[in-house]
Amino acid sequence: AYNFSAGPAVLPVSVLEEVRDELVCLPGARSSLLEMSHRDKTFVDILHDAENSLRSLLNISDDYAVLFLQGGAALQFSMIPANLLRDSGKSAAYIQTGTWGKKAIAEAKKEGQVEVVYDASSSNFNHVPGPQDYSVAEDAAYLYYCNNETIQGVQFPTEPECPAGVPLICDASSDFLYRPVDTNKYGLLYACAQKNAGPAGVTVVIIRRDLIDRGSASLPGYLNYKNHADADSEWNTPPTFAIWVLGKVAKWLQNDIGGLAAMETLNRKKAALLYDAIDQSGGFYTGHAKPDCRSLMNATFTLPNDDLQSAFLAQAGERDLVSLKGHRSVGGIRASIYNAMPIEGVQSLASFMTDFASKNA
Ligand code: PLP
Repeated sequence: AYNFSAGPAVLPVSVLEEVRDELVCLPGARSSLLEMSHRDKTFVDILHDAENSLRSLLNISDDYAVLFLQGGAALQFSMIPANLLRDSGKSAAYIQTGTWGKKAIAEAKKEGQVEVVYDASSSNFNHVPGPQDYSVAEDAAYLYYCNNETIQGVQFPTEPECPAGVPLICDASSDFLYRPVDTNKYGLLYACAQKNAGPAGVTVVIIRRDLIDRGSASLPGYLNYKNHADADSEWNTPPTFAIWVLGKVAKWLQNDIGGLAAMETLNRKKAALLYDAIDQSGGFYTGHAKPDCRSLMNATFTLPNDDLQSAFLAQAGERDLVSLKGHRSVGGIRASIYNAMPIEGVQSLASFMTDFASKNA
């Protein structure tokens, strides 16, 4: 079946097959990776290889550390303000364009002073602000935003403007590696793996080195970025399996897809299929996000009523198009079409949508 789940999401079939073939005994080793010490050179090489693949895909400079952490993206909601806000004597600026930004703000408020410089909640999070819609203090601890709000299907077409000297911090969990990004614009960019980069269990944190040692010594050890950076992501046992698979996904992006520019072209084609089906349905489908900030990863839309929505989901399931039910806060349908969703799956969904609309309008 084509799985349109928002996460954990589809992985490239070739990666899954490779994992299956290598799981019992890692080629060239004497055990499974699952049984191997994280200090074993074989695993340390895998970890460095995964880091180098990300560095090359995203052109990450040596001014940044790449960390492989646990606790999901959600732990970053706390780690970021614990390291960069708690002892800063400053206020942190947050842009709130959806559920995940809102959750991050709630956690940040436990650590220090937060200013929500833009809040899209009154329109049920259907848009992102333009630069004229908010302002950030020159002395803010940082500006935080979520590039792609997974539940609402709202995505920033380009990163928000941020005063020079204020670190820009991005939750890229649901659109990591979907296109080339200039990582030099960020103080910190992070993503859980389980949408675009691998299985659940690892979170990638790309952090500018001057921000690494701002956490106070009184922080619980795991929460301090410095410990992870100093120990090369081996301050404690890292999620070895997830890092291994993430490295394979990064290689698939480079070798099979042809890099992030090629991935972006494909992602734009896939998303256009769904948004065209919405726009050409004569109002049968209503997109949730405003057209200028429609997500290339999560397409959200509603149908005229609940009965039609239930019929849509049931008939889609009969065609092996699954996990399409939207989140309750938006309702309707959410089709998540991350990097690994083949274009054939999206074509199949788009043609079903057109067919269903013409029969039920
Ligand atoms: N941020 C975004 C944009 C997400 O989509 C999610 C999960 O869907 C999270 C954060 C939370 O991730 P995790 O479940 O890994 O903590």
